[in-house]
Amino acid sequence: MRNFCKRLPNSQNLTAPNNPHLRIDIKSLAMKTFTKTRLSSLIISLGLLATSTGAFAHGHESSKPQLGFETQLVSGNVYMLSGVGGFTGGNIGLTIGDDGVAMIDNGLPSVLELLKAEVAKSTDKPIDYLINTHVHGDHIGNNEAYGSGKTHVISHQNLRKTLLEKGISTGGGKSKPAPKDHLPVLTFSDQMTIHINEDDANIKHFAAAHTDGDAVVHFKKANVIHTGDILFNQRFPFIDTNNGGSYQGVINALQSIHDMSDEDTKIIPGHGPLATKADVATTIEMLKGARNLVQKLVDDGMSDEDIIAANPLKPYAEFSWGFIDANRMTKQVLEGLR
Ligand SMILES: [Zn+2]
Repeated sequence: MRNFCKRLPNSQNLTAPNNPHLRIDIKSLAMKTFTKTRLSSLIISLGLLATSTGAFAHGHESSKPQLGFETQLVSGNVYMLSGVGGFTGGNIGLTIGDDGVAMIDNGLPSVLELLKAEVAKSTDKPIDYLINTHVHGDHIGNNEAYGSGKTHVISHQNLRKTLLEKGISTGGGKSKPAPKDHLPVLTFSDQMTIHINEDDANIKHFAAAHTDGDAVVHFKKANVIHTGDILFNQRFPFIDTNNGGSYQGVINALQSIHDMSDEDTKIIPGHGPLATKADVATTIEMLKGARNLVQKLVDDGMSDEDIIAANPLKPYAEFSWGFIDANRMTKQVLEGLR
């Protein structure tokens, strides 16, 4: 039960695109010995059976959450917005106060109006600063929409460079040039700080982690850190080696985030529920442990194919989710060993 509860993901993740394992995943969950009530409440909360079991869905359709966001006050004047009822992109951070509003990441383009509506529940002020944690479209999909107004888009210099060189992915390996308003107007190399709402929001770069342009935002007074996708809380991470990310780089960055934190620090991960310093430690242990398990099989002379088939990450099954299952994670570990 512990494992099951721990792997209870945000609904955003279970309905993520590229999620061919979703149905299988749910079936395997259903085979476990939970009480009917618990399983039912899980399924309702995930809004999943509505399409697969008509009778069930009919009786509970009103319980299915609409696609949108929920806002939670994290600490001080910092909020976390996360998706409900489907995949809206990565977790979003927000500081609201007398000086104005800064937002960290901004979700998929398709959820722009939902995002605006959610932010409007907390403030009627415009967004002054839009901080990008990294280049992925589920985190900066609405740069252009905000950047065409008076919002200043901020990122690490490599993120802007990637957008200029590679454009915006449109799927299937294709891309389009990034419009001017989509591009950050303020970039930094190592770190910068926004002094806003009686806090110091330090934006720090970590090299070659999730990508080569990662930024972590640390609200010093509120004691809140937004990690971007350096932290996938309670699940296997995606490491974008095509955009300069690296397995060891993620471990290094997580170790730094761990060292920046104390027992009270609230950590907004790129995906997954709000995290603590202990969650970061757990993720580091998993990444190192997974690597050790795979390394042993490499040392035994096994081929990549045989290693993947052997499912060496079984001890970390609770980290498996729709987008990165144990199979895909094993491939990432192998890549990290090269
Ligand atoms: Zn990402």
